[in-house]
Amino acid sequence: MTEYVLPENPLSTGQELAELKLPAPEEVVVTKWRVSCDGDDAAGLGHPRVWLAISPDTGFVDCGYCDKRFVIDRDHAGDDH
Ligand SMILES: [Zn+2]
Repeated sequence: MTEYVLPENPLSTGQELAELKLPAPEEVVVTKWRVSCDGDDAAGLGHPRVWLAISPDTGFVDCGYCDKRFVIDRDHAGDDH
């Protein structure tokens, strides 16, 4: 449950607005096709640890708890063992 509050700034350029309009979920680039996520404990946003498998088709997976997105770095991705 993340709330994004956009600052009001009538002087913003269109480019800045475009960047603010769709705040992307947090993305984490990983090199393993299976990742674990337990949220962000440091920010008090932890959740039970879950294992996520990145789809080779899309190249990413979203955590169902915290919406964090794990993106595979195909150039550096290797098999786990
Ligand atoms: Zn998560």
